[in-house]
Amino acid sequence: MTSLENLIGDQLLTPGSPGWTTAVTGFNTAAAHRPDLAVAAEQPDHVVRTVRYAAEHNLPVAVQATGHGISVPADGGILITTSRLSGVSVDARAGTATVQAGVRWDQVIAAAAPYGLAPLNGSSPLVGVVGYTLGGGLGPMARRFGYAADHVRWIDVVTADGVLRRADAVGEPELFWALRGGKGNFGVVTAMEFDLMPVRTFYGGGMYFPADSIEEVLDTWRQWTAEIPESLTTSIALLRLPDLPMVPEPLRGRVTAHVRVTFLGVPDDGERLLSPFRGLGPVLDTVVQRPYPEIGEVHQDPVDPMPVQERSILLDGFDEQAAKALLEAAGPGSDCTAYVVEVRHLGGAAERMPVTPGAFGNRAAPYVLATISPPDGMSASVLAALEPWGNGLAYINFLNGPGAEKETARAFEPAVYERLVELKGRYDPANLFRFNQNISPIGGRAS
Ligand SMILES: Cc1cc2nc3c(=O)[nH]c(=O)nc-3n(C[C@H](O)[C@H](O)[C@H](O)COP(=O)(O)OP(=O)(O)OC[C@H]3O[C@@H](n4cnc5c(N)ncnc54)[C@H](O)[C@@H]3O)c2cc1C
Repeated sequence: MTSLENLIGDQLLTPGSPGWTTAVTGFNTAAAHRPDLAVAAEQPDHVVRTVRYAAEHNLPVAVQATGHGISVPADGGILITTSRLSGVSVDARAGTATVQAGVRWDQVIAAAAPYGLAPLNGSSPLVGVVGYTLGGGLGPMARRFGYAADHVRWIDVVTADGVLRRADAVGEPELFWALRGGKGNFGVVTAMEFDLMPVRTFYGGGMYFPADSIEEVLDTWRQWTAEIPESLTTSIALLRLPDLPMVPEPLRGRVTAHVRVTFLGVPDDGERLLSPFRGLGPVLDTVVQRPYPEIGEVHQDPVDPMPVQERSILLDGFDEQAAKALLEAAGPGSDCTAYVVEVRHLGGAAERMPVTPGAFGNRAAPYVLATISPPDGMSASVLAALEPWGNGLAYINFLNGPGAEKETARAFEPAVYERLVELKGRYDPANLFRFNQNISPIGGRAS
């Protein structure tokens, strides 16, 4: 430890030292990291020194930006926290952003908006850019522009040998492939550059429907998604909203359907496209023309730390029977305890591989089902009910919280997984980076 202190200085934290609790605590309180040591990195060199020290002493390394995606919590070892690596810059002429490892999406959104540009963030602007992008990155403009990982230009990463490498399409192309989908298995990312999109405004928000119209809303949504243009990205969620004064009365303490919409077109077309839902009488309708920085209003994700277990399955279709199965398993009267059971519509640009493909594949499924629940395992019955429509694969960014280690292999086609195992053996043979959705260098599928 003394020698790590010499190497790192004040950035080294030990249990009980000032700043320890803030550094190790993340969004998901059901899977908190419990490392022996933490390093609050302020420059890439702190990451290099920590990884070298960890490799020499055979100590496993965990990484945390925000704690939204804790899958396998650190039990001992060293946690590198990246929130102080907070640099973000926009090159308006090139239409790109460069971020350091600890940057959240809201910081990129704010930096890009003055130039009429927007990033491919996810539903919650408080999620970290790097963790999200390494898992694909499915956001509210996915059908128009694809996944965040599809638009990465280069990634700076400290691999398990303590070397800071730049991975891109020509330099370290295999590492570049593995990082874009293989999550945190291949090193600690210190920075990355990616494309921004020319988006200033969108027509979007959410429509909330009471329990007794959920069946009709689900049915309308599934038929509607067969016809809508790529400029419209949408999902439907069954929410269990708490019985609290901040929740509008008709939705309070009840199961509610929430149709989420982001339309990149003129508002008149958006209104026309949304008319089937307005006809069903939402009790709350927040869909309006908005500046891009209001993108978080589409999903209205929670902002405070909470206990979360997240699971997913990719669906080959979402027909009438699937909608019925979802209603039965997660609707009013079911014993489902999930806060959110969401079906996201894929297709469009999300279906197409980028020019420089990455490990994130799985493009064929037209829908993905995600359950976000307390860590009580109760979402298993919802997943089982929709399994007949599943294609056997999961979406890696929606595999978090207790038990996630058993699920990782389900996120990859067998051939992709094999290639990732081979590259893990090459870049991290001792599995230094194992407190994550882990790909073991000796292979095997944990599930
Ligand atoms: C409320 C909420 C909304 C979400 N919405 C979406 C969404 O719309 N679309 C979507 O695709 N996903 C979404 N997610 C999932 C999210 O993208 C993943 O959980 C992601 O891993 C979070 O990254 P983070 O850095 O914020 O979290 P952290 O918990 O800090 O990191 C999660 C993991 O990412 C990896 N990682 C993070 N930083 C680095 C780094 N510098 N180097 C190497 N590995 C690193 C590590 O494996 C780490 O364990 C959501 C999650 C939540 C809780």
